[in-house]
Amino acid sequence: MTVEELIIYGKQFIHSTHAKMLLADLLGINPLELLNHLDKVVEPDLIEKYKQKVDLVKNQKPVQYVIGNVNFYGNSFFVNESVLIPRFETEELVENTLNYIDKLFPNKNLKVIDLGCGSGCIGITLKKKISSLEVTLLDISKDALEIAKQNANSLHTEVTFLENDMLENIEGKFDVMISNPPYIKENEKIEDIVKNNEPHIALYAGKDGLDYYRKILKEAPKHVNEKFLIAFEIGMDQKDAVMNLAKESFPNACIISKKDMQEKDRMIFIYQED
Ligand code: GLN
Repeated sequence: MTVEELIIYGKQFIHSTHAKMLLADLLGINPLELLNHLDKVVEPDLIEKYKQKVDLVKNQKPVQYVIGNVNFYGNSFFVNESVLIPRFETEELVENTLNYIDKLFPNKNLKVIDLGCGSGCIGITLKKKISSLEVTLLDISKDALEIAKQNANSLHTEVTFLENDMLENIEGKFDVMISNPPYIKENEKIEDIVKNNEPHIALYAGKDGLDYYRKILKEAPKHVNEKFLIAFEIGMDQKDAVMNLAKESFPNACIISKKDMQEKDRMIFIYQED
């Protein structure tokens, strides 16, 4: 079968974008390049693999887990069922945080901690963008940290790993804390494909979805330097609640919320300038 025939085959069962992603990955090219290879005859063993993968996606397995990697901010990150699939919204968190770091800290020798790092996409991307940062990736899940380590290695990034429950009993102070913690409410209705595949430990955060903001913000004052930045991704209805929690812990800090590209409240930045 040719590339074109295989795309048509896949489209019978799954979204064409996903069919193209699966095929391009097997051929080791970018999905956009498929157009240049429509008449290429594909090897039988690749056809077999492709059909198996189409089947997995048809049976509601996220295409990112089937492929085994995701592009995040221009770099490829390994993912499996032990980690949340990195989202576009989180790229926006990283983008805005880079801008804040630029604005707030003329000296970039900063200690940064990514709380609940999952695949490591946030902390590793920050380190790749500003190499003078001293980045710690923290997660409670050993399996997630394994993936984060693989990503740091494959992206040639020197970072430190810490297995811990957020800031509980940790030593030291940081200039920048960043987190996309679990923020879904216990009873919140979410898409089946997310609920049935992504790790619940990375998704759910108690009755009101605020458990981890509470946990982090309670400990944070002891663990930030005088001048600091804390950057959170939040659920779209959590802005006021998280801003109030931030105010309780940091009554004198600037607390700013920001919407994502879908116009949903998505980020909170807490910072103290000197
Ligand atoms: N920090 C990781 C990410 O943004 C994991 C987040 C999580 O597991 N809640 O993808």
